[in-house]
Amino acid sequence: MKCTRCRAKAEVQLRAHNSAFCRPCYVVFFQRQVERAIARQRMFARDEPVLVAVSGGKDSLALWDVLADLGYATSGLYLGLGIGDYSARSRDKAEAFAARRGLPLRIVDLSEVGPGLGVPEVAAATRRTPCAACGTMKRHSFDAAALEAGFAVLATGHNLDDEAARLLGNVLHWQKDHLARQRPVLHPTHPKFVRKVKPLYLVSEYETAVYAFMRGIDYVVEECPNAVGATQLVYKDVLARLEVESPGTKLRFVQEFVRTAQPAFAEVEHQAPGECAVCGMPAYGEVCSYCRLVREVETKRARAAAGRM
Ligand code: SF4
Ligand SMILES: [Zn+2]
Ligand SMILES: [Zn+2]
Repeated sequence: MKCTRCRAKAEVQLRAHNSAFCRPCYVVFFQRQVERAIARQRMFARDEPVLVAVSGGKDSLALWDVLADLGYATSGLYLGLGIGDYSARSRDKAEAFAARRGLPLRIVDLSEVGPGLGVPEVAAATRRTPCAACGTMKRHSFDAAALEAGFAVLATGHNLDDEAARLLGNVLHWQKDHLARQRPVLHPTHPKFVRKVKPLYLVSEYETAVYAFMRGIDYVVEECPNAVGATQLVYKDVLARLEVESPGTKLRFVQEFVRTAQPAFAEVEHQAPGECAVCGMPAYGEVCSYCRLVREVETKRARAAAGRM
């Protein structure tokens, strides 16, 4: 098998793209895919500083690597979720990557800011699934950290497989409001919200893993323990089977949704957010969902303390 670009011996074959690449050409191909997505979707300008949310996993570190290589002014943001050894190991990987590349990394540890609550205890106290609690806490913390540090853009490492699985879930349940917001660029609906972009939305998990391997990126291989049994994984499995039968299915599914169907959903009228009475961040009710979560935990703690008296 020969490299599609230079005819040298190929190391990786991509059936979805009907191509094969040697190592140097693959790195160029991958970086160009990302660069093209940024330009086509007008995610951010050349000179615009970008905050990259890094989890220590392959996707976010590969994203940071590409953006830094392409010459964008990036800073990393690591959010400590308080999920035992997994969080400790992922933080180590993010810190080691930043140190090796000489890139600035901001660390926000949920157990050390605000009311000092990690994901597991919020989930237990509020009887939410860990991922539901985590999602609310992440959204709030990303916006708050970007606002505090003065960034207008936050990039996340969501890849094609993530987007395809999410799209399948949203379509199966006809979640119109979710489909209205499933875009590679989410423009802020409030001055305290940050623009959220997903430069890897058209590159698959496999392509990202190959890139990380070829670039020698050391990432946390294990998944978050709470990912086990997530419905998203079932959707990913179904899509992987379709992909084997018909290479390029995932790419067409997401690409065509964004190009043709998404604008129709985006027209759904959205109420503009007001401001949370507690923390001042954007909120759709009187209090934002993060502060509601915190309030629930504090009420529970107060009740437990009163019971002990
Ligand atoms: S799997 Fe769930 S708990 Fe773990 S990082 Fe993802 S959303 Fe958070
Ligand atoms: Zn080549
Ligand atoms: Zn709030």
